[in-house]
Amino acid sequence: MFDKILIANRGEIALRVVRACREMGIKSVAVHSTADADAMHVRMADEAICIGPPSSTDSYLSFPAIISACEVTGAQAIHPGYGFLSENANFVQVVEDHGITFIGPTAEHIRVMGDKITAKDTMKQLGVPCVPGSDGGVDTLADAKRIGEEIGYPVIIKATAGGGGRGMKVAQTADDMEQAFHSARAEGKAAFGNDEVYIEKYLTTPRHIEIQVFGDGKGNAVHLGERDCSLQRRHQKVFEEAPGPCITPELREKIGKVCADAVAKINYIGAGTIEFLFENDEFYFIEMNTRLQVEHPVTEGIFGVDLVREQIRVASGLPMSFGQDDLEINGHSIEVRINAERLPNFAPCPGTITQYHAPGGLGVRMDSALYDGYRIPPYYDSLIGKLIVHGRDRPEALARLARALGELIVDGVDTTVPLFHALLNEDAVLTGDYNIHWLEHWLEDNLN
Ligand code: ADP
Repeated sequence: MFDKILIANRGEIALRVVRACREMGIKSVAVHSTADADAMHVRMADEAICIGPPSSTDSYLSFPAIISACEVTGAQAIHPGYGFLSENANFVQVVEDHGITFIGPTAEHIRVMGDKITAKDTMKQLGVPCVPGSDGGVDTLADAKRIGEEIGYPVIIKATAGGGGRGMKVAQTADDMEQAFHSARAEGKAAFGNDEVYIEKYLTTPRHIEIQVFGDGKGNAVHLGERDCSLQRRHQKVFEEAPGPCITPELREKIGKVCADAVAKINYIGAGTIEFLFENDEFYFIEMNTRLQVEHPVTEGIFGVDLVREQIRVASGLPMSFGQDDLEINGHSIEVRINAERLPNFAPCPGTITQYHAPGGLGVRMDSALYDGYRIPPYYDSLIGKLIVHGRDRPEALARLARALGELIVDGVDTTVPLFHALLNEDAVLTGDYNIHWLEHWLEDNLN
């Protein structure tokens, strides 16, 4: 087992990893930009080291800065958290070339899954059901139009390198194709330096269901059920839960086994998430994330396992601490993402926290790096906390969420908390009867 791990991240996820390290008796090293000198992850880790100026390109994304920080502090492994370098295959290669362990999958797995066309092709071959669409990349508008006719409108044009909801355009009819095709390519090029696109049938009423998988890199893998992340704004999740309100034990077992078998076959190591759209009781693969997800705590809530601890274990060569038969769902868990953003437009709202009080009590977990007087820097993501609740069933979890949101105090900046208060009064949310488009419509009707 490692003696010391460097955490190449910031905010709540850096704290999350510090906590797992401390429980395992492993020393943690925080890295930070000059803008984060006062950040909570810096205070909570055993050691901290400044790796550059505020711009993430020169700090949290800088290979030389992070590798040097490992060498200076003697850290044997790097936990990347999510975002930043967590899915950067070149970084993983460089880390390994320096004799440091990357806590996550291999560079090769990240490369395969990071290119959505290759990922889809690989999954199809492994027996995972996919959204009907083009066979690989589509190079010309004429081909795009032909494929649109073949699969039937509406269709979605997606950048193979896309992520974070970017590089996707919908064509409702053949008339929209030209504009959608060119703008998906342009966005892919501008944001990811790659203009290759592919086409899928655009599903009109799906839920977003994702399966948590975990492998030991030696051909053993398990699944930890699903998360339903259908409440989305601009293809970004805002409210996640496990188990999924409309997933039966039979559906779970079937798709879970397909996913666990698929990752076992490729000797996948560590945590991964296989994302699906779910419509009319059918699952359609959309992408795989080769890292810990923001919403991993809801899975931890219902299975009572520590996924970061497992990541560290398998990276050090130990077996997973559980097998499929040890995993049993207990109750229901919900997470809401609290962002420093001003409604109704969700404009980032950095500033100084004048008062912070975290909710507590039975079944409440607050993953946040906030404290009284903390200055949220303007340079990074607007996520400032995740409130996660657990109850014996969905109604209990919802009641607990409303109660905990009522206890939470975040003064000094605007946040997305009022959105959740409002959503908890909606029948669709209370019954779990919505699809991935529901929230966008609701926001149009209620906030603008
Ligand atoms: P990203 O990598 O940017 O997160 P994904 O491929 O995971 O992109 O898709 C993100 C979201 O976009 C999905 O959760 C869903 O809301 C929407 N989406 C993606 N593909 C389709 C599709 N074929 N039909 C309808 N919606 C889709």
